[in-house]
Amino acid sequence: MKWTQTLIPTLREAPSDAEIVSHKLLLRAGLIRKLAGGVYTFLPLGLRALRKVEQIIREEMDRAGANEVLMPALQPPEIWEASGRAQTASNVLFKVKDSSGRQWFLSPTAEEVITTLAANEINSYRQLPKNFYQISLKFRDEIRPRFGLMRAKEFIMKDAYSFDTTDEGAMAAYKKMYDAYTRIFARCGLKAFPVEADTGVIGGNYSHEFMVPAETGENEVAFCEACGYAANIEKATSGIPKTAAREIGAVIEKFATPGVVTIDALSKEPYKVPANRQIKTLVYIADSKPIIILIRGDDQLNETKLLAKTGAVAARPATVEEIVPLLGARPGSLGAVVNVPASVNVYADERLQGANDMTTGANEDGFHLKNVSIERDIKVTAWFDLRTVNAGEPCAKCAKPLKIRRAIEVGHVFKLGTKYSEKLNATFLDADGSRKPSVMGCYGIGVTRTLQAIIEQGNDKDGVIWPLSVAPYQVCITPLAVAPESEAMKLAEKLYAELTARGVDVILDDRDERPGVKFKDSELVGFPIRIGIGEKSLAKGEVELKPRNGALQSIKTEEAVEAVMRLVKG
Ligand code: ATP
Ligand code: MG
Repeated sequence: MKWTQTLIPTLREAPSDAEIVSHKLLLRAGLIRKLAGGVYTFLPLGLRALRKVEQIIREEMDRAGANEVLMPALQPPEIWEASGRAQTASNVLFKVKDSSGRQWFLSPTAEEVITTLAANEINSYRQLPKNFYQISLKFRDEIRPRFGLMRAKEFIMKDAYSFDTTDEGAMAAYKKMYDAYTRIFARCGLKAFPVEADTGVIGGNYSHEFMVPAETGENEVAFCEACGYAANIEKATSGIPKTAAREIGAVIEKFATPGVVTIDALSKEPYKVPANRQIKTLVYIADSKPIIILIRGDDQLNETKLLAKTGAVAARPATVEEIVPLLGARPGSLGAVVNVPASVNVYADERLQGANDMTTGANEDGFHLKNVSIERDIKVTAWFDLRTVNAGEPCAKCAKPLKIRRAIEVGHVFKLGTKYSEKLNATFLDADGSRKPSVMGCYGIGVTRTLQAIIEQGNDKDGVIWPLSVAPYQVCITPLAVAPESEAMKLAEKLYAELTARGVDVILDDRDERPGVKFKDSELVGFPIRIGIGEKSLAKGEVELKPRNGALQSIKTEEAVEAVMRLVKG
């Protein structure tokens, strides 16, 4: 490809709405352009890199025995009603109407479609196991699209779905996908690592996310360097001890705490109740019913765990207007010892199990209760792990201190079980003549997000540093004189032809621009190898070879092709 033939609109400065380095570089390097918030056009170079990521995914999916299919983006709501996700995933579903007034959903993922297909086409154990995948546009009504391709309203996802006759079979399919993902991200030059994950509205009971460490990532991961434990903070647990039991007085004591409405205020003079001896009482509305949550004063509620443990689809903090009629007091004086309506479930964090000598709100504005023994004085509906772990807590497996870091979720694998196959009738006749639902798994990779994660991980002050495997072009040939009859251009054309013939992706920068401009642009776009052809080196029978990530070297012109081949192959 000749530079002048394609469109590479590089920019000195990134538009001001680009916040993170990879988003800025996608724009500055002329890879994508924004049409509207969360909606992007891929320009020629961006698309080339994207296609390479897709190709790696395709090869690894095929190698793992999955079959490529292509499912519709327009999906009838009936199948979403049948799975129950018309409600549970309602907030991300794009809903469109056709001219007859019929409603459609734009695919955010395709469990319903593939399970419907399996219901119709798979009837016997002889047809199983099967795994189907597609690489296609997905649509999600993200409330806050941001960071470019990271969180878009329209993006490309690879989604795969496995169908098996048994749980063991499903586990083996899961393992295959897990291994394929490990290979895919490695081949994309990404340092990605798997972590235990929550299953969310997708459902199922076993799941891992593939995370790329990055300060700008929207996820937090707790991990242990000693034993390798790693989990999304939404799911992570630690070996932190329960609250120590103490000698306490036999009776609860009410005391006045005028104006004290925070854990912190109660921990100070004159009360001096340490946060770890306080019970924090939170009121949430879970699937339109109020619930009470108790966690220790020095802990934070983990809302993902709350949903996962209680089975609620959605939960939000109750408003003051909802709380006062329910408990008779305002936030800051809430508790679960007295005045709790019998219909309200009380969920307590396991760290409070056996805790006594605790202080909590009296459900009377300006009063607290002390000498509270949680098991004696509070009717707890259920005990769950509801707290968020903190860095430094002992690993549950090996007791070494946990660390926490931010990361980008690029892939997610789920063992689904029979949730979708039961609801959508994807059953098969087993060898013994009985009819059973298929045991499913689903496996997603955010292809466009992966592309951006590669840039977020590979860049410097001058621009993108592409791994060879996904670079839009592997080599950029930069003659400093571009007149067709110039020695430099003749040599450039010759090297271009030879490298292209040997399967290398080459771009020839034939622009009549100053050398500084051309070098800057090629660094900005981040081609892994640049071959500079200037007058001085030409006179010595040499060219300048500059790996994007290494030092410039002069090499004999006739050795140039072999030198490049060594870099490309190595
Ligand atoms: P997130 O938690 O980031 O919203 P998710 O868990 O809802 O993502 P999945 O349903 O697991 O996403 O989708 C599979 C993959 O698709 C994710 O691992 C991610 O890489 C990608 N993805 C999800 N939402 C978006 C989005 N809005 N823009 C770009 N990629 C996305
Ligand atoms: Mg996910």
